[in-house]
Amino acid sequence: MDRRAGVTVRTATRLDGIPTTIFTTMSQLAVRTGAVNLGQGFPDSDGPASVLEAAREAISAGANQYAPGNGVAVLRQAIARHQQRHYGLDLDPDSQVLVTTGCTEGIAAALLGLVDPGDEVIVLEPYYDSYVAMIQMAGGVRRVVTLRAPDYRLDADELRAAVTPRTRFVLLNSPHNPTGTVLTRAELQAVADVATEYDLVVITDEVYEHLTFDDHEHVPLATLPGMFDRTLTLSSAGKSYSVTGWKVGWATGPADLVSAVLAASQWLTFTSGAPLQPAVAHGLDQEPDWPRALGRDLQARRDLLCDGLAGLGLDVRRPEGTYFALTDISALGWADGMEFCLALPERAGVVAIPAQPFHDTHAGDHLVRWAFCKEAGVIEEALRRLAGADLGR
Ligand code: GLN
Repeated sequence: MDRRAGVTVRTATRLDGIPTTIFTTMSQLAVRTGAVNLGQGFPDSDGPASVLEAAREAISAGANQYAPGNGVAVLRQAIARHQQRHYGLDLDPDSQVLVTTGCTEGIAAALLGLVDPGDEVIVLEPYYDSYVAMIQMAGGVRRVVTLRAPDYRLDADELRAAVTPRTRFVLLNSPHNPTGTVLTRAELQAVADVATEYDLVVITDEVYEHLTFDDHEHVPLATLPGMFDRTLTLSSAGKSYSVTGWKVGWATGPADLVSAVLAASQWLTFTSGAPLQPAVAHGLDQEPDWPRALGRDLQARRDLLCDGLAGLGLDVRRPEGTYFALTDISALGWADGMEFCLALPERAGVVAIPAQPFHDTHAGDHLVRWAFCKEAGVIEEALRRLAGADLGR
């Protein structure tokens, strides 16, 4: 409660207990202290030149007024072709594809469009922080299933045990932020079995779909037998084409699920940036191999960061996908990742993300996430700074 000149202002109870997102807090800290920012996950190099040019051309050609609420047709068609090309999924671009303002809006619209007050939503812990905020704003109740160190695998029994008579949804994320786990076909089958047995809808956030390493392959849940009809798939151009600031994402799946998302999204943003949509369509159609090439390039930077952090005495989980590596900081004498991350800019001039805000349980207290979607020189500079600092508690 804040009182100023006779005006009473308080945040709505639907936001009770929801803090400022850790990504904002840590990026502000990086700017304030001049630290190297290995916190918030955004690349420091641009996406394909032809995609950037397509956006400039779209602005010049006058694509500057509202796009249709469900997205411009060329982009919806390109998204359908992308799902067919990579995964063999056949989608009707008019009824089974919706353009969203980044995946974050897709998550918001999906939860607001589908979850009724009291409905339970199972999420993997550690979770992306927007899931918690949006489940709460929708009046839902979250149930967590923990991916535990050192392997961060999905335990099918724990998943099954999380189901109650009120469970209606699983909110899945693979490749998984922040653990870097890419769910295997067997793990996905376990999700499919539980969803089928208890008649659950699965909302799956696949924004790192192309950023997998070594021989780890992303399998969309929607491709498993019988799963298309109960799966809403969310993704975006941000990670695949290094345009996180464009905020162009999409929801795909059966028409009844997609239209429930549209029912909510029409009242959130109504539509997404008009000139960016044909540019993303250009990327999907004309630069189809760019995201995989980025994945290969990222793998080298993953190794640079992970080897460097391991060399500093941190216990590193080498991720199978995503932008991020998760480390256990206990070996340095710390038990609290938040405390460590708040001290790090001053100690070493580096920003990282504590994993506590992604947990209900204490499983993440001693875990810290580092982003490697940065130029190699930036990662090297961060490692040099860390090597020169006293990191002990
Ligand atoms: N997805 C990004 C991350 O995990 C953050 C996006 C955001 O700040 N909302 O770092």
